[in-house]
Amino acid sequence: MLIGKRNNRRPTHYRSLITHYLAFMKLDILAIGSHPDDVELGCSGLLISEIKKGKTAGIIDLTQGELGTRGTIETRYQEAADAAKVMGISVRENLKMRDGFFRNDEEHQRQLIQVIRKYQPEIVIGNILEDRHPDHGRAGWLIYDACFFSGLRQIKTLGDDGEEQEKWRPKMLLHYIQDRFYEPDIIYDISDVWEQRMEAVKAYSTQFLPSGSADPQTYISSPEFMEALSARARLLGKRIGVKYAEGFISKKNIGIRSLDSLVLVET
Ligand SMILES: [Zn+2]
Repeated sequence: MLIGKRNNRRPTHYRSLITHYLAFMKLDILAIGSHPDDVELGCSGLLISEIKKGKTAGIIDLTQGELGTRGTIETRYQEAADAAKVMGISVRENLKMRDGFFRNDEEHQRQLIQVIRKYQPEIVIGNILEDRHPDHGRAGWLIYDACFFSGLRQIKTLGDDGEEQEKWRPKMLLHYIQDRFYEPDIIYDISDVWEQRMEAVKAYSTQFLPSGSADPQTYISSPEFMEALSARARLLGKRIGVKYAEGFISKKNIGIRSLDSLVLVET
């Protein structure tokens, strides 16, 4: 475990999740976020729901969130590990890109291609393509580009074992809606897992729960932020006739194989 070694270039496996074989497992879903907590806020309901149905899911945090106003890198690692446990995530890695200053360039794309090829996910879920926080949109496009380039065999990368990796392109890339609202391409019913989803979000106690700490209040630590989170989920749920939902956009059309996937509720 490498908690606190800020200049170490190797990715960090979060404390409670590290096992030998998990580091090399193939995943059904890989969720990626620019900051630890992006994934929880954006798509933890979908992840919890899919894991309950037997899918495997991992999380990649691009940065350690070191520019965050509240908490520390160390508390953030612990919170991320706690949240992953609540969701049932198989593996969580932090790529230690620089919060605020990572770029969508070759170096960062290669870093991401390396983990995409390592876990070979069928589906990637990443940041939205434009948002209030500039990191979110930049991460969204970085993830978009890395998913595509990862499928090109002429781009060579090495795995953790030093062996050349095989090309891998995820079949589907979805972007979770974050601060700004975008008209979703799909709306996913998360009513059954709402409590668990909020438990995962609240694992980030230094970020979201007003406490007696000396840290200043921020945009996301106020009670209104939590209310807005739940209001957003209710709004999306109402659109499809359920209580709570998460919205996703996709650059590609989404095909279905069965009408059983549709939420059939009178609205
Ligand atoms: Zn963020």
